[in-house]
Amino acid sequence: MNKYDVIVIGGGPAGMIAAGTAGKFKKSVILLERNNVLGVKLRITGNGRCNFTNKMPLNRFQDYYVDNPKFLHNAFNKFFNHDLIKFFELLGVRTKVENNGRVFPLSDQSADIIQALELYLQNNKVQVACRSLVTDIIVENNQVAGVKLSGEETVKAGKVIIATGGKSYPNLGSNGSAYSWALKTGHNIILPRPGLSGIQIKELWVKGLQGISLNQIGISLYVNAKKKKQISADLVFAHYGISGPGAFDLSADVGDCLVKGSVVLCLDLFPEINESQVMEKLDDIIAKSPGCMCKNLAFNEVPKKLIAVCHDLAGINASKPLSQLSKKEKRSLINIFKQVQLTVQSLRPLKEAMVTRGGISVKQINPATMESRIVSGLYFCGELIDISGLSGGFNLQAAFSTGYLAGLGAAVEPKIEDRKPMDEGRSLR
Ligand SMILES: Cc1cc2nc3c(=O)[nH]c(=O)nc-3n(C[C@H](O)[C@H](O)[C@H](O)COP(=O)(O)OP(=O)(O)OC[C@H]3O[C@@H](n4cnc5c(N)ncnc54)[C@H](O)[C@@H]3O)c2cc1C
Repeated sequence: MNKYDVIVIGGGPAGMIAAGTAGKFKKSVILLERNNVLGVKLRITGNGRCNFTNKMPLNRFQDYYVDNPKFLHNAFNKFFNHDLIKFFELLGVRTKVENNGRVFPLSDQSADIIQALELYLQNNKVQVACRSLVTDIIVENNQVAGVKLSGEETVKAGKVIIATGGKSYPNLGSNGSAYSWALKTGHNIILPRPGLSGIQIKELWVKGLQGISLNQIGISLYVNAKKKKQISADLVFAHYGISGPGAFDLSADVGDCLVKGSVVLCLDLFPEINESQVMEKLDDIIAKSPGCMCKNLAFNEVPKKLIAVCHDLAGINASKPLSQLSKKEKRSLINIFKQVQLTVQSLRPLKEAMVTRGGISVKQINPATMESRIVSGLYFCGELIDISGLSGGFNLQAAFSTGYLAGLGAAVEPKIEDRKPMDEGRSLR
């Protein structure tokens, strides 16, 4: 059989929930995935633990999206974090909440999330076709009619949901192929660019700190010497610069600011206390161990290697005993502790970013159904759309919410029943 009610392209989180949801409404559904198995990217999320959502309340959730948060309003109203948690729990996945509201499977295994989604597909009789590379969509008179597969085979359907993801980590399957289908059917593509990305730093000393992490330090973003933003977050030094949650969450601002001028990040290694309190701390250490050499100076908050870099930056000979530091030297050392300057060179390339910013313009998608405003019967969901969130489970929640809505839209459109998503889950058992 090569004719279905609904075709879903892409077996990531957005495509799997979309296909299962359309199947739930007794539609014949086929899910086409180019990889050998479903959920290849999903498997590596959250370091293999899958941080699939965040417990943040709805009124604050949208603050965690850097592009088009308002577009997600309908999707979150229909299928939000508590619905998603319930959905997985009803499919047998127990969950837990960690710091900053991040939600994971209790087992710390993303495989459990994938298995649950596979069960959802099976329960709703979705035909899953892995190793199926879609090469184009078929559109006749502004109405979608099906898709073409590599090898020129076609599959027909009156509804097609595109859930092919963005362009980052292309070796995992999402390489942006759908952008060209969307473009030639009249949709606009907002330039795909790195989101949640590492930041390349000019100062060469960062190389020597590779692998060192800093907890909850202050990070301020300056553009042309004007302060634009300040956050408190964890950071990891990498061979090229900085990585980790702090770098990822600032990367969208950094990317936007780089086109405006020079961008500098200032690290405050003691964000909880002011300069005179840091001076007291230093004087305490000097009083206790006056003979200690500068290079052996240790603070709980700051790794030794970074303290050594701070001495270099302050122009202090690291072999000098602490007791011989002049007032001026101590002041300049503390200045550095409170403002380690990192000059931004660029973001890391898109293929290394955790998510893709940009994609199909939200202006051409109905936010209540995820249907294209240009081609009827065509739906978009997940990272393919010009939406992107900060780290903490926000990108997967957006993929699941928009996927759910697309599946519902394709199955019951034009009138969407106002049913509770939780009822969906409840009847899965
Ligand atoms: C290392 C890493 C860690 C991450 N950790 C987290 C996290 O903990 N929490 C979080 O919220 N987000 C995380 N993300 C982001 C999250 O994984 C994505 O936002 C999410 O997977 C997007 O889902 P999607 O279904 O839209 O796309 P994808 O997951 O990319 O799925 C798209 C699918 O479509 C298939 N496909 C593409 N083109 C075709 C085609 N032409 N024919 C057939 N199939 C096709 C692909 O093979 C792929 O399986 C992480 C990302 C990375 C890279």
